[in-house]
Amino acid sequence: MTSPADLEALDRRHLWHPFTQAEEWDAEDFLVIESAEGCWLVDARGRRYLDGVSSLWVNLHGHRRPEIDRAVIDQLGRVAHSTLLGLASAPSIELAARLASLAPGRLSRVFYSDSGSTAVEVALKMAFQCCRQRGEGQRSRFVAFTDAYHGDTVGSVSLGGMDLFHGIYRPLLFDALRAPYPYCYRCPLGAAPTTCGQACLGRLEELLEREGRGVCALVIEPLVQGAAGIVTAPEGFLAEVARLARRHGVLLVCDEVATGFGRTGTMFACEQEGVEPDFLCVAKGLTGGYLPLAATLTTDEVYEAFRGPYEAHQTFYHGHSYTGNPLGCAAALASLDLFAQDRVLEGLPAKIDRLRDGLARRVTPLRHVGEVRQRGLMVGIELVADRETREPYPPALRMGRRAILEARRRGVVIRPLGDVVVLLPPLAISLEELDLLVDAAADAIAAVTEGVA
Ligand SMILES: *Cc1c(COP(=O)(O)O)cnc(C)c1O
Repeated sequence: MTSPADLEALDRRHLWHPFTQAEEWDAEDFLVIESAEGCWLVDARGRRYLDGVSSLWVNLHGHRRPEIDRAVIDQLGRVAHSTLLGLASAPSIELAARLASLAPGRLSRVFYSDSGSTAVEVALKMAFQCCRQRGEGQRSRFVAFTDAYHGDTVGSVSLGGMDLFHGIYRPLLFDALRAPYPYCYRCPLGAAPTTCGQACLGRLEELLEREGRGVCALVIEPLVQGAAGIVTAPEGFLAEVARLARRHGVLLVCDEVATGFGRTGTMFACEQEGVEPDFLCVAKGLTGGYLPLAATLTTDEVYEAFRGPYEAHQTFYHGHSYTGNPLGCAAALASLDLFAQDRVLEGLPAKIDRLRDGLARRVTPLRHVGEVRQRGLMVGIELVADRETREPYPPALRMGRRAILEARRRGVVIRPLGDVVVLLPPLAISLEELDLLVDAAADAIAAVTEGVA
């Protein structure tokens, strides 16, 4: 076994970490995670940390769940991988049927890929090609929202609206039509949320009236924009967006990569407003946080637009080497079984309330907390230099990062989005562990923003 110190040195020498500035990584006393159990991570030096962001929003039932472990091991005893190009496999078939039965509306076709980015990329290409093949070739553009995040491949980055991540690539990207998302704390229209009457919907309506005939699809993160800073939309926003898209003949793509599988309190976020999209993209929680697997669900109507004689070239020419990987599908099936066995959705309201109470008691009163946003077990705590004026901290102060490093000293692993401290625990977290998470976050924020030890 390589010693912890050697692992750290080799990491510094050879790894390139995602979304990570080398200058900061070099200076950081980072953790090398060696094992995990339940909601706890254990590092190579034997220290234990609460996994406060579900290993980047993927874990649902805790780590090393015997049921999922067993399903993957059983599948390994049969075959680790076989292709879906020209062949079929039992786990991918069973999972497709299960997803179709869980998904809202008429979503009955499942196309597999490997990550949230590719799930969105697939939806984009399908929607575009679908319009062409239905004789609606003029529908070639996409509508996406301000501050949207749909992944890191070039197509999903084109939909992205976060200048920090996406700005430099603009010359490479296709141009999406942009509608304002209701980030009410910092309204993109400068309106007051209490009196605006959801003016952002008016903007979307105008946009669709002007450009709608040229639009093939509208892409939205339903209820919550994740990477933007856990930005929660007001009630009714999603339903109205869906209605507007429908009225203009625009296909609706719900990117539930972050919100899917219980995160917002229901299996899928779009259920909460009775929305039935034409495409549903899932990834992160699909395998319970075990393996990289993603799916793009769509309707038979869309599927049928690709049918025709081979020489008509209406096939969807897209697929990845590991599409529908049987290990991933087996993990996903076991994860979905756990939803029933553990009565996961039934247990969420008590956890969501406990989290809300804890935040109201410990976090909201802090002097440099501008806003606390929560939907289900997704929480964003926005730190500000001045609560009255909502003035942000200068980015160079790295307050969000400092807060999470402080939380780590208190035994909790979390990760910020800029100066938004994110709490996004596994659905399986206990009430006591939730208290611990909130206390550590509150103490850490107080320590870095108020100098309270
Ligand atoms: C994380 C995320 C993605 C990208 O998923 P990856 O698996 O990281 O490629 C896409 N959309 C949303 C809403 C996400 O939160």
